[in-house]
Amino acid sequence: MTRPITSAVTLYLIAAVAASGATAQTVPALDRAQMDTTVRPGNDFYRFVNGGWLARTEIPADRSSYGSFNMADEQVQPRLRALVKDAVAGEAKAGSDQRKIADYYTAYLDQDAIDARGLTPLGPDLATIGKIRDRRALARYIGGSLRADVDVLNNGDLDTDHLFGLYLERDFAVPTQYAAVLMQGGLMLPDKSYYLDTSAAGTALLGKYRDHIRTMLTLAHVAGANGMADAVVALETKIAATHMDRTETWEPKNGTHRWARGDFVRLAPGLDWPGFFAAAGMAKVDTLIAWQPDAIAGLSALAAREPLAAWRALFTYHAIERRADVLPRTIEAESFAFFGTTLGGVSVQRPRSDRAIAATSAGLGFAMGRLYVERYFPQSEKLRAEKMVADIIAAFDRRIQTIDWMAPATKAEARHKLQTLRVSVGYPDVWPTYADLRVERSDAYGNAERVEARAFRSARARIGRPVNRAEWAMVPQQVNAVNLPAMNAMNFPAAILQPPFFDGTRPDVMNYGAMGAVIGHEISHSFDNLGATFDADGRLRNWWTPQDLAQFNAQADRLAAQFDTYRPFPDVAVNGRLTLAEDLADLAGLSAAYDAYRSSLGGAEAPTVDGWTGDQQFFLSFAEAWRSKIRDASLRGRLRTDGHAPPRYRALTVRNLDPWYAAFGVQSQDSLYLPPDLRVRIW
Ligand SMILES: [Zn+2]
Repeated sequence: MTRPITSAVTLYLIAAVAASGATAQTVPALDRAQMDTTVRPGNDFYRFVNGGWLARTEIPADRSSYGSFNMADEQVQPRLRALVKDAVAGEAKAGSDQRKIADYYTAYLDQDAIDARGLTPLGPDLATIGKIRDRRALARYIGGSLRADVDVLNNGDLDTDHLFGLYLERDFAVPTQYAAVLMQGGLMLPDKSYYLDTSAAGTALLGKYRDHIRTMLTLAHVAGANGMADAVVALETKIAATHMDRTETWEPKNGTHRWARGDFVRLAPGLDWPGFFAAAGMAKVDTLIAWQPDAIAGLSALAAREPLAAWRALFTYHAIERRADVLPRTIEAESFAFFGTTLGGVSVQRPRSDRAIAATSAGLGFAMGRLYVERYFPQSEKLRAEKMVADIIAAFDRRIQTIDWMAPATKAEARHKLQTLRVSVGYPDVWPTYADLRVERSDAYGNAERVEARAFRSARARIGRPVNRAEWAMVPQQVNAVNLPAMNAMNFPAAILQPPFFDGTRPDVMNYGAMGAVIGHEISHSFDNLGATFDADGRLRNWWTPQDLAQFNAQADRLAAQFDTYRPFPDVAVNGRLTLAEDLADLAGLSAAYDAYRSSLGGAEAPTVDGWTGDQQFFLSFAEAWRSKIRDASLRGRLRTDGHAPPRYRALTVRNLDPWYAAFGVQSQDSLYLPPDLRVRIW
């Protein structure tokens, strides 16, 4: 599947970013050439900090966006390439991680071999689909293709092109164990709104999608491609109409819809549920969480009602699209033309060798991560980052104690949650193994299938089993960070602990402004509008007094309204509700990082650097970390699906902090000025 990773939706991450590689471009911190000091900081702080860079930087042709996360990733990619190269050259023994990495990469890279095999790897799946001649066979196929490919609260993967997705999460009612969550799926476009948009542009895009489906089916020598393409679009549109939208999907209260297996027949009639669960190997699972109950009922009804030929058409197209990157190059190129170019605005595809590394790093994530940290992540960096995390947790704790509007009982719960937060820096204490994964040097398609099947087996085996809070939701070689709200845990991968976020050679105040704000962002997710609904033990429990909650919500509403005013295009504004959790985290994170930097100096002022005061260095480094450019087509897509506001607006979080006004002399006539009573202060 070559849907660009940049359109992936993330919630609890610090950002939705592309993992990609190019030549490293290092930019010194607080370089005036990257700024535009002709702009008043109070009128356009983002341009003031990044104007020179924005004017000079071109998004590479093979990317949909480019910015600070890519710059950090450019330091990671050559290292991954070196690790893979060594694994390929090393002739490691069969069954070892290194051998699996070498074989996965080699198989993926060899497009000639993939072309020579043609459509053969698809054969068994297409044959099974062809045999769907009654509703029982339909249910068996849907159950058999269930994968653990969705995740609401951690990585925020809300979408699967399978009709349903399995999400393994801490049981909100019995937090000692994992629950099986069933989620809606079945769409290939990034969001339901693409199907239901009746504007001229929306209709035109759906027409292009239809043509793309027909082309894909034709390239795969499927007979009747024209009629099938119509059937796929019509059925996906019906599926879209059943879907819960993204803002609703992110509500943790969806985790309270506990259905016994038998309830599915009663509450979501239509699909042969016993057949579905048997085929999924879940016939013994007593209870599941129906995260989007109306959608599950709607999809089940469609399974009973829609023609079997339409289902066969949909499954056939999805089977081809999902694996386009490991099928013959004509199919792969057509997939990129639609998902990369038409949807993402990217004209040139990244080199296959880069994609082979990305695919290997995704398929064997922790095996690669282990090699990465062994070679590139010294213990000293881990300790330094852990110290920074401890400083910011302490700053956050002090903030909780001094909030004037919060009742003592609520404060005690908040502090307990903070004290029991489990923070992991760099990499997991225990490495997952890939002993049960077979990787073959001549079977790129099969390797991808087996990676997904393994993840599903692993998730399924843990349903109802004890939770492991030490488990990581992100791999160490990823430039990102994540809060796991139900686990009351956080992961800071090794790869984000480098410039422009963290640099051991520059003054600490700059690290507090950039990496410190990222750390504070993740900590504060435990207390944002979603995180605050979980207690320290991962129970979905309201630990706020009604007055406190009303105060919190009133402030949150004001922040949402603030972001609603940002308009990247004349016809589209940021959806402040969609991005609220992230905007709250940015605000609280920046505030805590500021306090931590101040207290690290024990009342002294930081030395000036190149004429910048300590406070100026702090805020400049923060806005510099949000340096980013994005193609219009991609930005329009993200505004619909991404839980994060565009970086240029995240940098404007500073408007809510009093010290920013003092640091840059921002006055009431400046366009970013907010009167003190309109500045949002929560933590
Ligand atoms: Zn976040």
